[in-house]
Amino acid sequence: MSLNSLTIHKLQEMLAQGKVSAVEVTRDVLGRIENIEDKVQAYITYDPELALQQAEAADKKLKNGTGGSLCGIPVSIKDVLCTEGIRTTCGSRILENFVPPYDATSIVKLKQADAVFVGKVAMDEFAMGSTSENCAFGPPKNPWNTEYICGGSSGGSAASVAADECFASLGTDTGGSIRQPASHCGVVGLKPTYGRVSRYGLVAFASSLDQIGPLTKDVTDCALMMNAISGYDANDSTSVPQEIPDFRNALKEGLQGMKIGIPKEYFIKGLDPEVEQNVNKGIEVLRQAGAETVEVSLPHTEYCVAVYYLIAPAEASSNLARYDGVKYGFRDMSSDSLLDMYRNSRSQGFGGEVKRRIIIGTYALSSGYYDAYYKKASQVRTLITEDYQRVFETCDVVVSPVTPTPAWKLGEKLDDPLSVYLSDILTISANLAGIPGISVPCGFSRDGLPIGMQIQGAHFQEEKLLKVAYNLELHLNISHLRPDL
Ligand code: GLN
Repeated sequence: MSLNSLTIHKLQEMLAQGKVSAVEVTRDVLGRIENIEDKVQAYITYDPELALQQAEAADKKLKNGTGGSLCGIPVSIKDVLCTEGIRTTCGSRILENFVPPYDATSIVKLKQADAVFVGKVAMDEFAMGSTSENCAFGPPKNPWNTEYICGGSSGGSAASVAADECFASLGTDTGGSIRQPASHCGVVGLKPTYGRVSRYGLVAFASSLDQIGPLTKDVTDCALMMNAISGYDANDSTSVPQEIPDFRNALKEGLQGMKIGIPKEYFIKGLDPEVEQNVNKGIEVLRQAGAETVEVSLPHTEYCVAVYYLIAPAEASSNLARYDGVKYGFRDMSSDSLLDMYRNSRSQGFGGEVKRRIIIGTYALSSGYYDAYYKKASQVRTLITEDYQRVFETCDVVVSPVTPTPAWKLGEKLDDPLSVYLSDILTISANLAGIPGISVPCGFSRDGLPIGMQIQGAHFQEEKLLKVAYNLELHLNISHLRPDL
């Protein structure tokens, strides 16, 4: 078995015992990237020299026992998180040459943990999309079948982990962008509670929904990454001063006493039968592990797509106003008036989906329409949140599919944005309510494409999610399966 296909926790044992060095591990991952990256295309920017320098530093710390919790572990980073001195494009032409002067807090924390940074990975432009095809630098490919999408918007994160081009990745989730690509690529992806992980240095898409979280090869690694990135940050006014548990303690066998809700609105018409079968099989596994299951209802689920596609574009239109060609980012040099410069910089710098969102969002916020759209959407958002509050009075977590279908072919839905929006129907509510959600592999379609199970819980109940996910993983025993690349 090659080093790059190991998990973080396995690798940590080997590093601690001196069986392998961080430099050897990093070389192995870089070799893997050299061999398969032309097929997967997960990375936008990657810097082997920097990675090796960091690995050398990690080896010194490993030797003298001062290494942090992820010492010597190669990771990739979604290209929406600011990395000091390293280009951060957001998958957009408008930031193609943007080099941030500071690190996002989550990056600072990974540096404190002595992780090794391999590079920045592909994503839908400004995290808008569900396929990663909106990336201005080309879409990453699903490692299980490179003719298929890897999901989005954290597609490069999921692909780089699934393809063993790193051991873990940081992604972001505004309406499903960690869970959905995790599901399509057969890896674990956790969207933490809003406020659990600092958003400082995350390029904003929809600030009331965005959250950073890990994509990993298994649930244990997910807990390790959460330990490293969680916590209050004075630089993010929405970060919550909540105690950080050791998430690894949640990984216990047996689900006795755990009550799992099955929300009937999540087993919708149009749900792919293979997705349904695999998720039901997973639910059966959880029952056998000791959990009790009950049917529950989240009655406002049907409104979540409509609510999200008002609130997210509204916030995006405001957040993206800063890309005007003046302060930083792309500037059209041919215009001879200020207004033309604004117009040309933005029309050349942004891609089609981003422009669509800005137009929808600006319209929804405009005077005379605000009450009918943004305000109404915010009111329904409260109803969705209350649905969850009610349900979590009677059960610990709810489980469901992550996406209505397995991954589809690249290009298949390029002309049909509405049907792509609808594919977010099972993940969006968690962001509207601010609750945590995880995607864990639960099977494969007949075509060999991964299918995930989603577990959602009440605010700051990530440990329950991890415990259920861990038991599913343990009994299904599929997390070691790797794509054939
Ligand atoms: N697919 C959703 C969108 O396009 C969610 C994206 C995300 O979570 N960043 O907005």
